[in-house]
Amino acid sequence: MSEAQKKRKYTFSSESRILPLLPLRDIVVFPTNVVPLFVGRERSIMALEKAMAGDKYILLAAQKDASFSEPSDKDIFEIGTIAHVLQLLKLPDGTVKILVEGCQRAFIEDFIDENGHYSVKAREIEEKHEDSVEHEALLREVKVSFDSYIRVNKQVPPEMLISINQIEDPGKLADTLITYLSGLKLVERQALLEENDIFKRLESLYQSIQAEIEIIKTEKKIRARVKKQMEKTQREYYLTEQINAIQKELGEKDDPRAEALELEEQAKKKKMPKDAKDKIFKEIKKLKYMSPMSAEATVTRNYIDTVLSLPWLEYSEDKDDVNYAKDILDRDHFGLEKVKERILEYLSVKTVTEKMKGPILCLVGPPGVGKTSLVKSIADALGRKFVKIALGGLRDEAELRGHRKTYVGSMPGKLIMACKKAGTSNPVILLDEIDKLSADYKGDPSSVLLEILDPEQNNIFSDHYLDLEYDLSQCLFVATANSLEGMSAPLLDRTEIIKLSGYTELEKIEIAKKYLIPKQLQANGIQDQRDISFTRESLVFLSRHYTREAGVRNLEREISSVVRKIVHHELMKEGKKKENLETTVVNPKTYHRVAFDSPLKITPKMIKFYIGFEKFRYGTQNLKSAIGLATGLAWTPYGGDVLTIEVVILNGQGKLFITGKLGDVMQESAHAAMSYVRSRSSFLGLAKDFYQKIDIHLHVPEGATPKDGPSAGLCIATALTSALIKRPVSNNVAMTGEITLQGRSLPIGGMKEKCLAAHRANIKKILFPIDNIKDINEVPQSIQKDIEFVPVSHMDEVLIHALVWDAEKNNKDGLYQKLQKTSHTDDVEITKNH
Ligand code: ADP
Repeated sequence: MSEAQKKRKYTFSSESRILPLLPLRDIVVFPTNVVPLFVGRERSIMALEKAMAGDKYILLAAQKDASFSEPSDKDIFEIGTIAHVLQLLKLPDGTVKILVEGCQRAFIEDFIDENGHYSVKAREIEEKHEDSVEHEALLREVKVSFDSYIRVNKQVPPEMLISINQIEDPGKLADTLITYLSGLKLVERQALLEENDIFKRLESLYQSIQAEIEIIKTEKKIRARVKKQMEKTQREYYLTEQINAIQKELGEKDDPRAEALELEEQAKKKKMPKDAKDKIFKEIKKLKYMSPMSAEATVTRNYIDTVLSLPWLEYSEDKDDVNYAKDILDRDHFGLEKVKERILEYLSVKTVTEKMKGPILCLVGPPGVGKTSLVKSIADALGRKFVKIALGGLRDEAELRGHRKTYVGSMPGKLIMACKKAGTSNPVILLDEIDKLSADYKGDPSSVLLEILDPEQNNIFSDHYLDLEYDLSQCLFVATANSLEGMSAPLLDRTEIIKLSGYTELEKIEIAKKYLIPKQLQANGIQDQRDISFTRESLVFLSRHYTREAGVRNLEREISSVVRKIVHHELMKEGKKKENLETTVVNPKTYHRVAFDSPLKITPKMIKFYIGFEKFRYGTQNLKSAIGLATGLAWTPYGGDVLTIEVVILNGQGKLFITGKLGDVMQESAHAAMSYVRSRSSFLGLAKDFYQKIDIHLHVPEGATPKDGPSAGLCIATALTSALIKRPVSNNVAMTGEITLQGRSLPIGGMKEKCLAAHRANIKKILFPIDNIKDINEVPQSIQKDIEFVPVSHMDEVLIHALVWDAEKNNKDGLYQKLQKTSHTDDVEITKNH
């Protein structure tokens, strides 16, 4: 600073003083500060001694560079502080400790070298100060901010605030506060010392306080974060080490890095599409950086394991030999000629075109008729793996397509799991009970099925869990259903339907003999199949009295229980023999028979002994021909069924009660039948107003099973007529057919199943709509031999065949003769073409 500049900036005292100089390292002492100092340099000690010898005043000025031990005049700031030495203490090591009090800013005019130490010629600087509102405001603001500073900086004792608040002189306040700002650098302090204008000094001090507060706050935040992080890391480290130690104790120690490397090795070897491979490597990389015990690591590890366990590009080779396929189908299944033929045609087309782009097969029929086992045989014939997906009751799309892997416990959907289970990407997949799919708010699973059955889309099937495309186009899908009713039109459109119907008793017995019994003997550990055989009567007995079904599932189950019981008894007997016990829990009469010393022939009596009394009564539904009791035939997805319709006449006022849980269509049918009977009242010999004095109650027993459909019309009308004219209905006759208001019969469905059910119930005559004549060809010969089939076109014909007329036949004017005249049954002939 030039002389002129100094003059402009400072106002000096008129006289200058000569004072010994004490150069300071890294510290600036302000007026008002009381500071202890350690003095070690010889020159400084000399300067001190000089001061002590005089008035104890000394000039303190900071060195520009603290590293100089012998600073020259150029190395010392020109502005310093005149200080009073309050105390001096010589320490044993030769250094001196002093306590000084800053008194006044001073400007060094000249340095005087005095044999070993500097003295200076200095002039006191007078401070510029004026009172104004602005200054007052600043003063207060500085105090407030210092207050905040103390709160964040715990090193400043809070009681300081009291003494500071008492300082009213702004210059003194600034000089006092500076000492507490520990973060200020030397140059900044020096600048504050050199600032003569008190307002400006306070202002820059204020800025420094604010900056300090910010810095301390930020420091605190960082410190807290670091501390937390440290604690977390330490905690995790500690816990992981503990787990490691436990695992080591248990001998289960797995090194996570080694695990990642192993997964990487596996991924490298695995044949899979590039996309999937890239993704897996990314996941493995992520896994490496995860804490091995974290939930996230478990999810990632599971994901990697799942993806690596899928048979991405693994395919079994097809046996494209249709003759072999035929052999397999014949080996596993009795009869079913047409069905087998259709399957073989389908497989032939597949062999020739080498594509699966056609519609998929859908086997439709009652339970236990061999749908599942046919599909297994298809898989066997092609040399492919077989997997089954149960669709019954499935509502949520996610069951087929999976949940995203972020869901807790999520897995791929059933389709991908099926491939995983098969271990190849071209298994035969059985979509079981496709008619029982249902949709709800969670999405429509049938839309997923449509996608996988669409050859244009199924090569890029996307599962939510995998989040990768999977090629399902090589899978052979075969669906099964009990009925077509539950299937949506688009699904039907994509499928080729093959219908399977129930079996006749003869067929069931053949199936049992040739397939079910050998299978069950083997399954139950009978080594020599000749040891146990079932007589024909015993199989008939089993089928008639222990099952009532279209297929052979229950028959197989019952055979299995018989065999199981035999094995059990045999083992017990062995045990008893060994223990030489006299008492035995097995029936002593049959005891010797179950021993396999000689082959065992199962008779109906033994069946009763092994599996208990008959579950079903065989024979006609109604033991005797009775008034108002007619036998109808019904179709259900589980095969045909026989149902009884009861009508009673009560005194009343012309009401019709219908009970037995009948559906709307069946109720309408009942009303139509009633109207028809009323319209024929005079023909039937009833009074015109006969219905006004009576109530009619129509009931269909077995109320637990819902019944619907129009095909009971003829049967209801027959039961009504029988009750009204008081003539019994023959218990050997069953009937089916819709009725019009004029009494005509209309065709119905499910003829074959109904006939099978009638045969099971030992019915001798079936009345059916004439338009269903073509369906009779479908009915197996063995049944046609046992049952008389009577096509009818009108209710009158039904009455002739269904009611018991014995006493009426010779009455020339009776109802029988009238009916004979109006009916034309004899005109129709059933053409059988077997
Ligand atoms: P579905 O799938 O139609 O309900 P399954 O295929 O489960 O019926 O058949 C039940 C049992 O009956 C199986 O053990 C099956 O092998 C056997 N079965 C059914 N039909 C035949 C048949 N025609 N020949 C041999 N076994 C049969």
